[in-house]
Amino acid sequence: MSEPYRVLVARLYHESNRLNPEPTGETRFLVKRGQDILRSPSGVFKGLTGTLAAAGVAIEPIFSAGAPPSGLVDHEFYLRLREELLDAVRRIKPDAIGLELHGAMGTTGTPDAEGDLLQTLRHLVGPNIPIGIGLDLHAHVTGRMLDNTDICIACKENPHSDTVECGQRVAELLIAQLDGRLSPVTVSAFLPMILPGAQETASGPLAEIHAKAREYAASHPSIRDISIFNSFRFVDNDEMGQVVTILSDGLDSDAPALAVDLAKRFWTERDRFEDDFLAVDELFELIQNSPEKRPFVIADMGDRVLAGAPGDSTILLSAALDNYPRIRGALTVTDPTAASRAAEAGVGASVTLPVGGGYTPGFTQRTITGRVEHVSDGEFVLDGPFHGGEHSSMGQTAVILVDERIHVLLTTSPAYSHDPAAYTSQGVKLEGLDFVVAKSGYHFTLNFAGRATPVLANTPGVGYYSKGQFKYAKSRFWPEHEIPVPEIVARQHSVRASQNPVSKVSV
Ligand SMILES: [Zn+2]
Repeated sequence: MSEPYRVLVARLYHESNRLNPEPTGETRFLVKRGQDILRSPSGVFKGLTGTLAAAGVAIEPIFSAGAPPSGLVDHEFYLRLREELLDAVRRIKPDAIGLELHGAMGTTGTPDAEGDLLQTLRHLVGPNIPIGIGLDLHAHVTGRMLDNTDICIACKENPHSDTVECGQRVAELLIAQLDGRLSPVTVSAFLPMILPGAQETASGPLAEIHAKAREYAASHPSIRDISIFNSFRFVDNDEMGQVVTILSDGLDSDAPALAVDLAKRFWTERDRFEDDFLAVDELFELIQNSPEKRPFVIADMGDRVLAGAPGDSTILLSAALDNYPRIRGALTVTDPTAASRAAEAGVGASVTLPVGGGYTPGFTQRTITGRVEHVSDGEFVLDGPFHGGEHSSMGQTAVILVDERIHVLLTTSPAYSHDPAAYTSQGVKLEGLDFVVAKSGYHFTLNFAGRATPVLANTPGVGYYSKGQFKYAKSRFWPEHEIPVPEIVARQHSVRASQNPVSKVSV
């Protein structure tokens, strides 16, 4: 019997919002090493490692490092992780490398950390060791990432209900390549456009584009994957836009035209990428007038921690306290100073504290008076299904009950409030509340399903793009810039060939 393949696996997961002024240092990351990372994997990493193990592959687990979306990652910390991975590759000399990356990680030294990581890895192992990665569909995919990977694919659904399947697919493709059953070639098409709204894949223009992609894949046997990357909007470099990738066994001669066709559909449908939000007053009126639908879970779109915002908004808090005296709810505010002062005062104490507004430009503090209900280290485990089973930390956390009706979770780090466990772990029960706030735009609908009615709030902050709001020095994309008629170019990426434009098509 021949030796099993040895595949080195690791996970480096961060979505970095350059508009969040707080850099993300090592202390914000949960880092595990060695066999420990195989014990309770989730998402892409679960699919990747589970499928490799089931196929009898000898897995070489290196590290899993992840932090909630936030400001740019400390570059020195990133470099240490990169070096650790390179050292492991030198030592182990694996047959292949499988990684879970987010795809939109930027550091204080580079806006394209994954591109840097993959280029460095490729330089070390040469062209003959397969590198396969599974990404979030909001990855900011660059040519450098595609040029240095054999397999670079995304999950297909937003909210991301299919991350495990994405990891399984990466593993299957890697094994096929190792077996000599697959000679992967990726063709990409890039469109300088971001989606101002309508980002869910279950309906609207994205559902139609994905359906077309599935149709193309089904009618071309050599096509093994079509991924559609909707980009991360809070970076700034010259590759901001929609990216369609088609991975085939050998170059499928139709792939360039199909990739361009799919990218072109974004452009022709561009006016449909709009969101339908409620203004803050409209949504509280809705909550007040719809008792049968309570509790509501309000997506605080501007202050989305899941898009890297600091989570320090007090806008919903102020509206609920000042204008809706009968409404009962719960929300989180990132404020380490206030959390620490409340914790020092202790459970049962009455406190008056200014809270929030400490990070996001333009946000203001709000003074609250209430009773400290709960104090903890902020550790909890997500219920899921999105990231279910994953450990999360809000840092030292204190719950203040204001006006006997609003539970304010003062957290040291931005909270993963897209999961009810952020609240229930702190003694706040959803039952009896009229609303809770999730600092998430999409994934919260998965984790609150059956427990609360979702509603999207039009709120300010660095977690939501609207035209003209943020400065982009390097990027040029619609709708921020007037793009007359974009030329969409299909490029072939193969680690054994240089990056060639294989088709140039204008829409
Ligand atoms: Zn995403």
